[in-house]
Amino acid sequence: MDLFEYQGKRYFARHGIAVSPGDVADTVDEAVAVAERVGYPVVVKAQVKVGGRGKAGGVKLANNVDEVREHAVNILGLDIKGHVVKRLWVERSSDIAKEYYASFTLDRPNKTHLGMLSAQGGVEIEVVAEENPEAIAFLSIDPVEGLTLATARRWVAEAELDDVAREQSAELLVKLYECYTQGDCDLAEINPLILTPDNKVHALDAKVTLDENASYRHPEWEEFRGDEFEDPREKMAKEKGLNYIGLDGTVGIIANGAGLAMSTLDVVNQVGGTAANFLDIGGGANADVMAAALEVINADPKVKSIFVNIFGGITRVDEVAKGVLEALKRVSINSPIVLRLDGTNALEGRALLAPHLNENLITEPTMLDAARRAVALAN
Ligand code: GDP
Ligand code: MN
Repeated sequence: MDLFEYQGKRYFARHGIAVSPGDVADTVDEAVAVAERVGYPVVVKAQVKVGGRGKAGGVKLANNVDEVREHAVNILGLDIKGHVVKRLWVERSSDIAKEYYASFTLDRPNKTHLGMLSAQGGVEIEVVAEENPEAIAFLSIDPVEGLTLATARRWVAEAELDDVAREQSAELLVKLYECYTQGDCDLAEINPLILTPDNKVHALDAKVTLDENASYRHPEWEEFRGDEFEDPREKMAKEKGLNYIGLDGTVGIIANGAGLAMSTLDVVNQVGGTAANFLDIGGGANADVMAAALEVINADPKVKSIFVNIFGGITRVDEVAKGVLEALKRVSINSPIVLRLDGTNALEGRALLAPHLNENLITEPTMLDAARRAVALAN
């Protein structure tokens, strides 16, 4: 999950990283109110999850109330690389002596963290990497050892940050590393990290990507989830603990195992249909999971038929069949269900279903047959 700059700055601030005082604003009047509160001059900044806002006219300096109004009017609604600005961040403007770059990210092939630090910040790091690669000091960090202040001190010297900035930067980098690791980020980037004329170092921008696999231990991340942008089906699925991705077709899909779920999408496409979703119910295809899965798919108004594709391995098909029957008692389903049940105890499973079959509960012997039937019902 990518954070907006204002969210990233709040995340940084919680870990003791210095940021400018500021607040969000969704209207011109709110922008003025924030500016009055933090004091002029201020910077009015577009909150979109894309870089290069400055160049696109999404970051503007304002010296007084009229300028705040003017910039807020212009930036709200601005389209930056396909992202329409709905929210602003207004912060006290900083005087800049130097712009640096700092980030931590994963180095997957080497199984370490990668720190990047440069005295040439403010521009895109890709450009620096291309034109002036020796200006970036790379640091490989063993996740067990972490980043010590001593290492950070050597690193800021190697990156040739200005002498007056080094100690503050080293301390800030240790905090940024803690934010990145303890905060379960995939990326924590500050560009620019600035040195002010009165020799203070602080973060002027924040780019943070959170590792969603860790969301179970971060209930506080809920505040970062903008309901307005989330697919309501995915939200419902997440609440029910399902592994669901919303698509825009008409055949609802339930399969066990991610591989089988993907093959199911392929086969539905192959026979001329479109999948409404990806949904892997995993190994535990019991009544609770099946009922939850059917409920989520049933709530999607585009769904015209439901294809349940189960290959019993460790999961026994008779258990799945019981789960389906039990789930159907609890949820009333608007679309016909086509089942393909194969693998361990398939015969027992089909026998259990046999007395309940009708035009809304259908079994087919193979995956391809079932796909054809589900697609025919949907089209
Ligand atoms: P980005 O273009 O999306 O990366 O947005 P940034 O937050 O990095 O802002 C872009 C540029 O605007 C920075 O590199 C700075 O040069 C400038 N900028 C941002 N905030 C301030 C500020 O408080 N004072 C001054 N003087 N310039 C700023
Ligand atoms: Mn930036």
